Amino acid sequence: VNLQATLDDIAGEIVPHLGVGKVADYIPALAQVDPHKFGIAVTTVEGESLLAGAADERFSIQSISKVFTLTMAAEFVGQDLWQRVGREPSGSAFNSIVQLEYEHGIPRNPFINAGAVVITDIIASHCPAGGVKGAQGTKTAIVDFLRQRADDAAIDFDLEVARSEKAWGYRNAALANLMKAFGNIVNDVDDVLDIYFHQCAIEMTCRQLSRAMLYFANDGTDPLTGQLVVSAERARRINSIMLTCGHYDASGDFAVRVGLPGKSGVGGGIVAIVPQRLAVAVWSPALNEQGNSHAGTLALEKFAARTGYSIF
Ligand code: GLN
Repeated sequence: VNLQATLDDIAGEIVPHLGVGKVADYIPALAQVDPHKFGIAVTTVEGESLLAGAADERFSIQSISKVFTLTMAAEFVGQDLWQRVGREPSGSAFNSIVQLEYEHGIPRNPFINAGAVVITDIIASHCPAGGVKGAQGTKTAIVDFLRQRADDAAIDFDLEVARSEKAWGYRNAALANLMKAFGNIVNDVDDVLDIYFHQCAIEMTCRQLSRAMLYFANDGTDPLTGQLVVSAERARRINSIMLTCGHYDASGDFAVRVGLPGKSGVGGGIVAIVPQRLAVAVWSPALNEQGNSHAGTLALEKFAARTGYSIF
């Protein structure tokens, strides 16, 4: 497979589809982004990186942060994690509140907003081991984890996006408060939301994200540094959750069309992995109705079809 030619072809074919859909406007700072942007990057387990389009432009990773925070929380508490969050697709929107009351404050999975807020709460309880405590220390621990995964110390928060999301975060505040009432948020609700908004507001490029995801393609070990990030078993489980829940109520659609474990965010980014081979990241800000990048999904569908790299 000629990966560079594949990415170049996709970047050309995708042009008529750019701007179809809507940028996330419930976070005002994200509504400013040009909906016609497109970038794609692949990093292979051998360390080769291939780029097309705006692959070096930073964007808001939003819910893509949730695969990394799930990794961190699982390392802190192991199997106990499943006492506080489920691992079933929700069939509802990423920010839905309806199931939470019926299911006693236990979110369906770690990738919908409610589940991700619980994961953030777990991290807030466990880190840092030393140094700065509280919300600031936890935010630093999360961004440091991403800097290590991407091997790039320049990764940081977009504070304007974090502020904007906080100012309009009524729905996430409702989810967090309801879970607190059920006893499923341990730390101060405002602190947990502050950390959650900041993790979502981390800015990265397609190149950095594809590099950062590589451990999921290599049984939990970073293939370029040799560092064990998570056990092979845990990496396999997180990949399964990406496949079944990574695109909210469009997870089935993504599995049918792309057939790879993946995670999307309302900034328009999507990451996916091809086991034993590579990680791919794509970005285009206009979203479909389920809040996933329209052109990004289509680009990954083309990528899987062209390379034959679906896991099925
Ligand atoms: N920060 C966003 C929110 O909480 C993340 C949602 C997403 O990317 N799907 O609404």
